[in-house]
Amino acid sequence: MHSFDGHNDVLLRLWRQGGDAPGAFLDGEERGQLDLPRAIKGQMAGGLYAIFVPSDGKRPSPSPVDVVPYDVPLPAPPVMTAAQQATLEMASLLFRIEERSKGRVRIARSVGDIRAAKAVGAHAPVLHIEGCEAIDPDLKMLDVLYAAGLRSLGPVWSRPNIFGHGVPFRFPSSPDIGEGLTDLGKALVKRCNEMRILIDLSHLNEKGFWDVARLSQAPLVASHSNAHALSASARNLTDKQLEAVGKSNGVVGVNFHKGFLRADGNWAKKTSVSEIANHARYIADKIGEDHVALGSDFDGAAMPEDLHDAAGLPNLLTALEEVGFRGASLDKVAHGNWVRVLKQTWGE
Ligand code: ZN
Repeated sequence: MHSFDGHNDVLLRLWRQGGDAPGAFLDGEERGQLDLPRAIKGQMAGGLYAIFVPSDGKRPSPSPVDVVPYDVPLPAPPVMTAAQQATLEMASLLFRIEERSKGRVRIARSVGDIRAAKAVGAHAPVLHIEGCEAIDPDLKMLDVLYAAGLRSLGPVWSRPNIFGHGVPFRFPSSPDIGEGLTDLGKALVKRCNEMRILIDLSHLNEKGFWDVARLSQAPLVASHSNAHALSASARNLTDKQLEAVGKSNGVVGVNFHKGFLRADGNWAKKTSVSEIANHARYIADKIGEDHVALGSDFDGAAMPEDLHDAAGLPNLLTALEEVGFRGASLDKVAHGNWVRVLKQTWGE
């Protein structure tokens, strides 16, 4: 069975690696968690491909933390011009992957594109930005990125920016920490609704989440977050937040990162893929199976050892079957719910 995924950081990994990044993606390599051969092997039909701009070239510590509780300090955001440069480079990287793929990779700008790619067995990335540091206060850059294919954005990564405030990497912690969206952030939500760009709630703090919930006309989507009731990370969603996503006909993409799955928050420990299935089950029981999907965080997270990378996705589908997602239910979680919510958000 095919799957569609809510979040990966492969563009960041390739951008940092340098060298022949399109070749590394298309031919595959030993490094990382996602490339085309592994996507094909795992029957991953496509997903949201994030552009994330690191602060001064560094991402804070998804290195194993075996001291829990933890609170990883956040770096200062990059300046806009540097963020724009990095965004341009990572977007170009994806375009060059598509160009050299000879039809095997087709960037999707519509649900029709996702369906057409699937029909011919092509992989379908959707361009997403995680944190809007590259976007100016007048949102002019948003016009340009949309024209280039951007269809989804998270107003903030965990760092604060001109649009709002995110959640730090803190465990255990409530996501209710600090201010929500700024006035510019509210204007961004309105503009995204007009342009039919998906607004991703993962990484927003709780006040920001409720600001979007109040302002947005679109279904609420958290592309890569889990249930706070099972793992008390600031990055996960409380039951109240989950209920709001369900009521809006949105989705939560379950994150595969061990630190957001485990009850003890310790991502240095060996963890089974069944933990991902447990979060999916919990969310489905709470808000319905139409509102659970996948949000791997490939190339940005520590994977359960028995999943390891995109080629291991069939192991996750087996684990999902074991907690009761079978047939049409499994298809929804693996693929259908993402397609439904994208269609509702984007139009056809
Ligand atoms: Zn993320």
